[in-house]
Amino acid sequence: YDDRDGWIWWDGDFVPWRGAQLHVLSHGLHYASAVFEGERSYAGNIFKLRAHTERLIASARILGFDIPWAAEQIDAACQATVAKNGLTDAYVRPIAWRGSEEMGVAARGTKIHLAIATWEWGAYFGVEQRMAGVRLGMAKWRRPAPDTAPTASKAAGLYMIGTMSKHAAADEGYDDALMLDYKGDVAEATGANVFFNMGGELHTPTPVCFLDGITRRTVMGLARRQQIKVVERTIRESEIKDASEVFLAGTAAEVTPVREIAGTAFTPGELTRRLMTDYEALVRLSPAEVAQNGA
Ligand code: PMP
Repeated sequence: YDDRDGWIWWDGDFVPWRGAQLHVLSHGLHYASAVFEGERSYAGNIFKLRAHTERLIASARILGFDIPWAAEQIDAACQATVAKNGLTDAYVRPIAWRGSEEMGVAARGTKIHLAIATWEWGAYFGVEQRMAGVRLGMAKWRRPAPDTAPTASKAAGLYMIGTMSKHAAADEGYDDALMLDYKGDVAEATGANVFFNMGGELHTPTPVCFLDGITRRTVMGLARRQQIKVVERTIRESEIKDASEVFLAGTAAEVTPVREIAGTAFTPGELTRRLMTDYEALVRLSPAEVAQNGA
C-alpha cells in the first residue's frame, strides 16, 4: 500500500503518500501502542464519522495516551483527506501511535502521532450477488477476557490473533473465521460482528470482550424499526446450528450474509436481505438525514 499517488494527513499536514514513512524505533511498532479506526465515505460523507472519532479517542485513552487533537479537528481532517485525494466512495483509516523518543516498555515521554489515509473502496457487488454469502471457518484463537487485554479499544495489538485466524481460515478455503471468546461462547469474526436469525428474532452476542461495533448498533436500530426483536445475549457455540440465517456487520463488511460456518450451512433469507437493503440506503443519506433517522 505504500507505492501509490495520493496524500496522507500526518500530524496536521498533508504529505505525499510515498513519503509517509516513520522511524523503525517507533514505540507503536515494537509494543503495539497504536489505535486505529476503519471508516467509510459514501458519496463524500463519512458514515457516522463522529462515532468513529470518539471511539478513536477512547481507544487511545484506554491505552493510556491522549490524541493531541479535538474531535472536531479529527472529523475535519478525515473529511479533508477524502477530499484532498479526490475520492467520494472510500475507506478511511486514521491511526494514532506512540513515537520513537523512548525505547522500552515505559513510554510516557513519547510523542503521540496521528495520521489519516484513505483509498478508493466502492460497493463492488449488489445486494442479490452478495446474498450468496461467505463461508466462515472456526478460529482456534479466542477473544481474550476484558481483564486480559484492553478489549474495548480498537488497539492494533488485538489484531494479531485476527490476522492469524484469518490466514488459517484462508488456508482451509474459508473467507473468514468466526472467533469464540475466552469462555468458549460466540464472539465475532476477525473484523466484523455477527448476528443470527433465531426463530425470527435477531440474536447477537453481548459485547463483553470485543468491539460493540458502530455497524452492529446501526443494524440493531434498523431491525427494531422493522419491529424485529433484537436480543443481546451469550450465544453458545452449540447454538449456531439453530440459526436460520447468519450475517456479519462491520464498516468494511457492511451487512454480509454467511452461508456456512465450519460445515454448517445457512441460507441467507428475508431478514438479512431487508437489513442489507436498509443499511445500504442509510449510509447514502446526508449526515443530517442519518442523525434524523435515528438508527
Ligand atoms: N470487530 C472487529 C474486530 C472489527 O475490526 C470491527 C471493524 N472495526 C468490528 C467488529 C465492527 O466495528 P464497526 O462496525 O464499528 O466497523
